[in-house]
Amino acid sequence: TSYGFRSVDTEDKQPLVNEVFHSVAKKYDVMNDLMSGGLHRAWKNAMVAALNPPKYGDFKVLDVAGGTGDIAFRIVEASQNNAHATVLDINGSMLSVGRERAIKRKLDPHVDFVEANAEELPFEDRSFDAYTIAFGIRNVPRIDVAIREAYRVLKPGGRFLCLEFSEVDLPLLDKIYDAWSFNAIPQLGKMITGDAESYSYLVESIRKFPNQETFKGVIESCGFDRVSIRNYTGGIAALHSGWKL
Ligand code: SAM
Repeated sequence: TSYGFRSVDTEDKQPLVNEVFHSVAKKYDVMNDLMSGGLHRAWKNAMVAALNPPKYGDFKVLDVAGGTGDIAFRIVEASQNNAHATVLDINGSMLSVGRERAIKRKLDPHVDFVEANAEELPFEDRSFDAYTIAFGIRNVPRIDVAIREAYRVLKPGGRFLCLEFSEVDLPLLDKIYDAWSFNAIPQLGKMITGDAESYSYLVESIRKFPNQETFKGVIESCGFDRVSIRNYTGGIAALHSGWKL
């Protein structure tokens, strides 16, 4: 690719990604809490607060790589059940867990689930008011293709929000974070899911992902305007926001 970051990820990585999430689907939610010390909840809440979905009027959001529904559920709840969310994911195992959770929370009338690829969205142009993707874009082989698709399916005036692990910019935190992610996370993964390799992949994929500024450039190159960055927890995660104007 031409972004100037190491291009280890190829178009062949999708089968590996699918295996990883198939293998972790049932334990995915508990692992998220363990690996992030619960922080992913705060980051996701901050993302939804940034979106601030309206409590009346038509509002359709597409949550790509939506997995077990965390972002979609939060959006619907924040809108007091006004918004309609479509959870799209390439992995049927993740979506099955999501469907069960939606029913348990009585949110199923407001959420639907679609099995598809972020690089090829099965929707017409200008269908959604917002597009969200949380901890998903780094798993997609061709991120520029996915972001162009986001642009295509958004209505003019639509919002793009991407939450992703990013580059830590605090000198001490980066050391702690390295130790945590290269040692603790694969071991936790092994203990809980019996699968250390999947979690090594996850840690690797975080390191290979472009940093805040580089990723901002990618989003702009796909057509989005007024792209901004918000760091969370010293840059462990970052929220990129853009508009289709
Ligand atoms: N957004 C959820 C969250 O924040 O809890 C799930 C994030 S999970 C780390 C990443 C998700 O990306 C997985 O459910 C995986 O199946 C999905 N995924 C990977 N490649 C994809 C693709 N090409 N298109 C759509 N989803 C994809």
